[in-house]
Amino acid sequence: MFTSISGRSVLVTGGTKGIGKGIAAGFAAEGASVAIVGRDADAGEKAAAELGAGGARAVSFVRCDVSDPASCAAAVAEAQQRHGGLDIVCCNAGIFPAARLAEMTPGQLEEVLGINLKGTFFIVQAAIPALERSGRGRVILTSSITGPITGYSGWSHYGASKAGQLGFMRSAALELARAGITINAIMPGNIITEGLADMGAEYMRSMEASIPLGRLGSIEDIASAALFLATEEAGYITGQTLVIDGGQTVPESLEAMG
Ligand code: NAP
Repeated sequence: MFTSISGRSVLVTGGTKGIGKGIAAGFAAEGASVAIVGRDADAGEKAAAELGAGGARAVSFVRCDVSDPASCAAAVAEAQQRHGGLDIVCCNAGIFPAARLAEMTPGQLEEVLGINLKGTFFIVQAAIPALERSGRGRVILTSSITGPITGYSGWSHYGASKAGQLGFMRSAALELARAGITINAIMPGNIITEGLADMGAEYMRSMEASIPLGRLGSIEDIASAALFLATEEAGYITGQTLVIDGGQTVPESLEAMG
């Protein structure tokens, strides 16, 4: 149905676990060449071996802390060198530790903004020359419903970082458009990942009850959207958001779900 993206070179931050690993798997299955980025080298090498197994799929791990601009520049250079350029960048790395506003330390705030928001800036900045050379550059951000649409106690810093990604995206879209590069954001609801599992069974149960489609999301649900945004056919979409939440943000109350 869509023009193949086989042979494209992709970088996925936070591609060693959870949603990012699902996105990387989706691109690898379509024949793209994928660099996955994270801080934990053991987990990263293991994920790359797993994602690259069973065929000619080129998946490699590049160690990087996205909160460090020098680390981002080095990772983008390494990914280009290993995978022959760079066509698609998925800014997905993120953390979601809880801290209530009254007790939040400057360090806790900086950690979340540094990884989730500034990390997005640093990776995109580093990738601009390669995306310009590509001629069909794509940037896909993993934002969230939390922040741009909803709130959650303990996540004021997280919500600000995820809403901030959208503010970044809209102005970046204008600057990148001149080179034909698109930038869009996916806004997941509650997706089953290692990170979400850390929130505990009670959190997972109560979230499930608030989702009209009756289930938590899968990493494949998000990967499909990322793949779509990377296609030729999505080339006229930029600066936009796509909510993937099973309808979670639609009802105005639990009673409204009927
Ligand atoms: P996860 O399972 O905890 O995975 C997070 C990934 O990000 C890991 O690969 C981790 O690797 C990497 N990472 C974290 N800090 C990093 C840093 N400083 N530099 C480089 N990589 C880093 O999380 P997830 O649930 O898949 O979430 C992924 C993204 O989706 C996040 O941006 C999150 O905000 C967003 N999201 C998730 C959900 C959900 O329900 N799961 C909902 C909405 C939005 P290392 O730890 O090895 O660095």
